[in-house]
Amino acid sequence: MKVELLFSLPKELEVTSIEKTDERLIISVVSTQRSACCPLCSSLATRVHSHYTRKVADLPCAGQQVCLLLQMCKFFCDVTMCARKIFVERIVPFVEPWARVTARLYQSVQVIGLATGGMLGARVTDQLGIQTCWMTIIRRIMALPTLPVEQVIELGIDDFSFRRGRKFGSILVDMQSHQVIDLLPDRKAETAKNWMKAHPEIRLVSRDRGGDYAAGAREGAPQAIQCADRFHLLKNLGEALEGLLAHHLAAERKRQTQDPLDTLIPVPVWQLKRATRSSPQLEHLQHARREERLAQYSQVITLHQRGMSQQAIAERTGMSDSTIGRWLAQGSFPERKPREQTSHVDRYLPYLIERWESGCHTIAGLFRELEEQGYKGSYASVRDSIVRLLPTGRKNTSDSFSKTAVLATSRQAAFLFLRCLENLTSEEQETLGKIRHLNAEVDLTYDLVQQFAQILRTRTGEKLDAWLVRVVESQICELQGFVTGVERDKAAVVAGLTLPQNNGLVEGKVNKLKLLKRMGYGRAGFPLLRQRVLHAL
Ligand SMILES: [Zn+2]
Repeated sequence: MKVELLFSLPKELEVTSIEKTDERLIISVVSTQRSACCPLCSSLATRVHSHYTRKVADLPCAGQQVCLLLQMCKFFCDVTMCARKIFVERIVPFVEPWARVTARLYQSVQVIGLATGGMLGARVTDQLGIQTCWMTIIRRIMALPTLPVEQVIELGIDDFSFRRGRKFGSILVDMQSHQVIDLLPDRKAETAKNWMKAHPEIRLVSRDRGGDYAAGAREGAPQAIQCADRFHLLKNLGEALEGLLAHHLAAERKRQTQDPLDTLIPVPVWQLKRATRSSPQLEHLQHARREERLAQYSQVITLHQRGMSQQAIAERTGMSDSTIGRWLAQGSFPERKPREQTSHVDRYLPYLIERWESGCHTIAGLFRELEEQGYKGSYASVRDSIVRLLPTGRKNTSDSFSKTAVLATSRQAAFLFLRCLENLTSEEQETLGKIRHLNAEVDLTYDLVQQFAQILRTRTGEKLDAWLVRVVESQICELQGFVTGVERDKAAVVAGLTLPQNNGLVEGKVNKLKLLKRMGYGRAGFPLLRQRVLHAL
């Protein structure tokens, strides 16, 4: 087999020698062309002036770097009128003039860069035997030509965050070809408007429920139908629902964790030894509490981002004004500090044991007594200490903890409410049943939510008005905000509920974009992210 074939070299190149050093394979190659066209006047030249050697990096071979030593010809251009007297022959498209790498190596680095980004790309290329650096990789990505957006009839637009909840950009998707067609550096109405203005062919804009894209589309593409996408409709309803469920579930959780423990059955004193601090039940409970707290936190942040006042958020979520103020000031989810090994209550343990022994088994009563003695800790620590003091067997007889743990968080519950009943597992159906039985308001909410989901699934937007009336009549306060929002944007909501276009597509692209973002684009910023999204998604 000819070596040239092995290396897939162009037919005008012939290998004269292969030398192997520690780091690389050096392949000497000579051009066999006897003539070449002048790059300026295109006439054929045959008179050789001299030879010269070009060093060009090529694709690695079996993990080794490959360097091509290309011996090229210089020709005279004999056309009198031509300004170029001497020129070097070219072997495009194999190597571009003046390039120091072959086109195929250049493209490989580009592809690796698009998939991995600069820093990670440099690690991958290093492993593969390609000599480059992250800056070169980024330069190669940036050098990719951005194709101008052609006709876009159905446009999907949504936002994504550069940094969680701080800075946003917009992603534009062609709903027909399913391609990401552009990224915008912000999510302002003005920017969206200007983009759409350049595309008078747009017939439909599928967007979220925010006012900015609506305004942008109204001015930039007045000819287009606006369509509130179903994903965001459900998301908004889910958020309203979460507020309502958090309220009811918190009340239920409180009832479940406190009641049964206040009526503990006395146990013999010899069993009052300290049990291990973390039982699976307790861990489970702590986890559930954290989940619920996190759900509350994101709800607060979302409402705040929508411009709601601290007090309005407090009313809506049933949380205290001061907690909300603290959370908003903190800027990130405030994790609870792990409990210290000794809590306030530990000092009072001997007293607790003594009182328990003498027959006082109501936690509320013990808590009051400790307070009288100067205890500054919480009711919960007193309760937890007493639970810890109980031997394991006792804890199992009171199943309050396991009950609490299986109680869904408000977010999970909202998800159960929104889904089709037939698609739920029997466990999920059971949980749903329990939640619906909490009270009449929750049960009615479930019916209303399912009716809306049904309209959405069956694309029967014409039923929306009747549904809105039912929700208003229900007087369920958390859902009124959703109704107001729908009324404000009704034409687009009806279009979203009726037309087959679906922004779930854009959502999918946003998720892929998140992956790219996570791999980092920090050094080169938005332009690099845009390049990678446009060429890789
Ligand atoms: Zn010429």
